[in-house]
Amino acid sequence: MMRPPAWALPESEFRLVRSGVPQDVDGIKIGAPTGYVVCCDCGRGARNIDWINHGPNCDSPAAEN
Ligand SMILES: [Zn+2]
Repeated sequence: MMRPPAWALPESEFRLVRSGVPQDVDGIKIGAPTGYVVCCDCGRGARNIDWINHGPNCDSPAAEN
């Protein structure tokens, strides 16, 4: 069995960050996914869901504390 892709995780735990600035600012069209994902519980993010350094009080099941 393959692991489900990050975008298949429940919306309540993580959200994909979409660009909010014009393409000439960050190279990504407005509204397009930046590749950055943020934990909805502690608000920390990373470019990979597995790289997020969750906060000490994070209740996400992905947090290792
Ligand atoms: Zn977290």
